[in-house]
Amino acid sequence: YIFGNKKATEVAHLVWERVVRKGDTVIDATCGNGYDTLAMLKMVADESGQGRVYGFDIQKEALGSAASLLEESVNPTEKELVKLFLRCHSTMAEVLPEDTSVRLVAFNLGYLPGGNKTIITESQTTAEALNAAIGILMPGGLISLVVYVGHPGGREELVTVEEFCSKLPVEKWSCCKIQMLNRQLAPILVFLFRKCWN
Ligand code: SAM
Repeated sequence: YIFGNKKATEVAHLVWERVVRKGDTVIDATCGNGYDTLAMLKMVADESGQGRVYGFDIQKEALGSAASLLEESVNPTEKELVKLFLRCHSTMAEVLPEDTSVRLVAFNLGYLPGGNKTIITESQTTAEALNAAIGILMPGGLISLVVYVGHPGGREELVTVEEFCSKLPVEKWSCCKIQMLNRQLAPILVFLFRKCWN
């Protein structure tokens, strides 16, 4: 029993929990207010200080809000495991230490809740970021997207994401989506699992 009355992000977190391990390196491609960043940190943080969360957003306001959430929710040692970057997620590979292999790259697309609704993720940079993500994801890793279709540009972005996924080779990738059939504007979950044996 997974779905019930859960929000799309909660369902995404349940899937992440099945994939992510303590000590992993993971990426929050769209930090926003930091709720996903916090959920990821809880999954990777271990006593030896191995886990890492790299977070990206193009809005200072978002990163400030994410930093405050972390400040009030985790201890200083755990907070040290998170690195936040004020830059586009299409550049994610450039800031990672060399040869870093990533278990999870998560996107929560659209606009910042409570923020400026005209600043949204854009199809072009989302596609570039997906390309960057597949280059750094380890076998057995996951790219997760929550895609919103209720705002202008949202449906086009979903088409971009679906086209990207449909071109990935089936020997290496298993791509699926979860869509509510009786709620036209509900967010759509897309998961790209990188197979282990390639
Ligand atoms: N994950 C967030 C949370 O838990 O609160 C919500 C994310 S919100 C739906 C989408 C975020 O993506 C916004 O904060 C927005 O500024 C950010 N964004 C838009 N374009 C971006 C880009 N090119 N690179 C990184 N972040 C971007």
